Amino acid sequence: MNLRPEEISSIIKDQIKNYKSHLEAEAVGTVITVGDGIARVHGLEKAMSGELLEFPGEVYGMVQNLEEDNIGVVLFGSEENIKEGDTVKSTGRVVEVPVGDALMGRVVNALGQPIDGKGPISTDKFRPVERVASGVIDRKSVDTPLQTGLKAIDAMVPIGRGQRELIIGDRQTGKTAIAIDTIINQKGKDCLCIYVAIGQKASTIAQLVNSLEKADAMSYTTIVVATASEAAPLQFLAPYSGVTIGEEWMEQGKDVLIVYDDLSKHAVAYRTMSLLLHRPPGREAYPGDVFYLHSRLLERAARLSDELGGGSITALPIIETQAGDISAYIPTNVISITDGQIFLETELFNSGVRPAVNPGLSVSRVGGSAQIKAMKQVAGPIRTELAQYRSLAAFAQFGSDLDPATKNALTQGERITEVLKQPQYSPLDVAHQVVILYAATRKFLMDVELGDVARFQSELFEFVDSKYPEVYDEIKLPSGLTKELDAKLNDIVTEFKQGFRA
Ligand code: ATP
Ligand code: MG
Repeated sequence: MNLRPEEISSIIKDQIKNYKSHLEAEAVGTVITVGDGIARVHGLEKAMSGELLEFPGEVYGMVQNLEEDNIGVVLFGSEENIKEGDTVKSTGRVVEVPVGDALMGRVVNALGQPIDGKGPISTDKFRPVERVASGVIDRKSVDTPLQTGLKAIDAMVPIGRGQRELIIGDRQTGKTAIAIDTIINQKGKDCLCIYVAIGQKASTIAQLVNSLEKADAMSYTTIVVATASEAAPLQFLAPYSGVTIGEEWMEQGKDVLIVYDDLSKHAVAYRTMSLLLHRPPGREAYPGDVFYLHSRLLERAARLSDELGGGSITALPIIETQAGDISAYIPTNVISITDGQIFLETELFNSGVRPAVNPGLSVSRVGGSAQIKAMKQVAGPIRTELAQYRSLAAFAQFGSDLDPATKNALTQGERITEVLKQPQYSPLDVAHQVVILYAATRKFLMDVELGDVARFQSELFEFVDSKYPEVYDEIKLPSGLTKELDAKLNDIVTEFKQGFRA
């Protein structure tokens, strides 16, 4: 080849000019140390926080600590085949999960990969797992109910679409049961559900999927799983992946319900991860930003304005307490972030009051405006009657000579408590709830034996279902419990009671 000198110099000049950009395309670093699911990597100066890095053997990691001479990376897979000196490739992307309708009815891991053996998820849409939550202008206030199907909750601590309501209680108090019943109750209600399982046993989750399938609720539900045996970073990531899947639907104008079961284990996973990354520990050894960990997650629940499609994400985070202590660090954090809490009590649960909702400590700060009118009207007195009953019951233990007013309050309180009991997997339509709560609050149950209350309810439903089914639609009308409807319900329950055998 004959090259003239000026050509050579231009080629060399060209090479020198492109030297830098050529290097950049090959952004690679080397592993300095690896262990406990954490790798320290040297040489990736352009790495972004939250960026996905590729390690040998198709193991991925997420950039967490950006330090002066190295970066701390959490690994999403086994570190077995990674050793000092290995090359690490930057991908230029932050961590993403697949989103879209293909995820409905699926069980996926924290990275959105299917683990239910039903084949690959066919979607070409991905979204980054971390995102700034919708601002105030993008939102509107909660005004549509999200019914749980549980009388105790829909009557006393109603939840609205777009709300964040905490479910809090000790071990084995029926926290998960409430969330699952709520998911089952969304059937045919145009609300997609996401259940995020953090740090639970794989066998528990398999059972849960089974119950959802039996209740015909899997078709509109997505389950995101990071089990107790998975690495802390995956447990940390799972709720963010779940809400990211939900956001895609919310932005399409759909309503989404997401359950985080539970955020106590999420905080523990984050603490583990942070300590391994040598971040400074704070109170109870949690890192200082543990509040931000949960606030940036729960802020993503929202009811979008009509201009943005009006979709919503309702969040039901779950927190496990130790010996009912709701004033511990993580519980108080999450209580202050959410719009109310459903407090479950071991004592109530063990005495057979299930769901074990404590009416005094449970609140819903915004849900009241989302209750249907008839429910608001019949449920009004329940809280005060129960509170009265509880204080009187404690006092009445000491004396048998009670005045009639006290006796009445006690009898009524017992009946209401009995009516609010509900077995698992049997959520009730709101109109049915109104019928039985009407009967209870209008004192129709005063002379019914406590042991007959459950039968009273089921026979009353049978009676109304067969003879006056139209009343259910009337209850749901925006006009609520009008004078006419009130009179009609009164007649119906009176007629039923005449035929009720004690
Ligand atoms: P954990 O702390 O282990 O996660 P949890 O608070 O989530 O427990 P669940 O697993 O929901 O509690 O319920 C504990 C047990 O109580 C389960 O066996 C469940 O079947 C039962 N249970 C829950 N709710 C009810 C109910 N309303 N009626 C009867 N049994 C119930
Ligand atoms: Mg549970």
